[in-house]
Amino acid sequence: MDNGIHIEGLTKRYGQGQTAVDALKGVDMAVAPGEVVGLIGPSGSGKSTLLKCLGAVIEPTAGRMSLGGAVIYEQGWKTSDLRALRRDKIGFVFQAPYLIPFLDVTDNVALLPMLAGRPNAEARRQARDLLDALDVGHRARAMPSQLSGGEQQRVAIARALINRPPVILADEPTAPLDSERALAVIRLLNQMAQQFETAVIVVTHDEKIIPTFKRIYHIRDGRTEEETGQGLYP
Ligand code: ADP
Repeated sequence: MDNGIHIEGLTKRYGQGQTAVDALKGVDMAVAPGEVVGLIGPSGSGKSTLLKCLGAVIEPTAGRMSLGGAVIYEQGWKTSDLRALRRDKIGFVFQAPYLIPFLDVTDNVALLPMLAGRPNAEARRQARDLLDALDVGHRARAMPSQLSGGEQQRVAIARALINRPPVILADEPTAPLDSERALAVIRLLNQMAQQFETAVIVVTHDEKIIPTFKRIYHIRDGRTEEETGQGLYP
């Protein structure tokens, strides 16, 4: 088992008895450190359920999950501190950047480590390094409302990376962006994944970015199928 994401036979049943819904029916998935895979499926196929299980937001019914070299779920959570698990192992990127409007770009990125007790100056320095790497270093003192959509999403990626999590879960991260900006965001996610050896899952419907994935998992009716993608940046 490497430091990426490993999911074996994962099931999730909502409710009980006659009204039970089997949202995941035995999902297998593996994402290596440095790899960015697409997760695609129609509405109701189980994408959000899978992401919520991986993000330790809801508890699976059965199966096994490991993140960053440690088993996190097997017949129950392997830790009683799910907040620490989310904080240390997982970076989240959403469709909307959810930046805090009254903090500047640097402090939006530095907030998590500052709240965790790291010295402010050190957290800010680390945030600025990441912002530089994501090509938004020149906006470090701007307020979120002064940024374009693409810039805001890059700041959101910096925030997801600040604790150096082994895993990033991105839910429709490019939906509001035009083609050029969407591809730029995916290119940066790939670069960051390689640089920090992060395993990244991108849930998407976005036709613009689907050709960029080297591997795609299709989810249908609670089961996944793997497909080799094009791995192209048009
Ligand atoms: P997707 O994200 O692909 O649209 P979901 O994971 O949201 O799919 O849903 C998968 C299935 O699980 C659907 O049939 C949905 O109705 C059902 N479902 C999702 N959340 C719940 C819930 N909290 N309670 C009961 N059923 C749910």
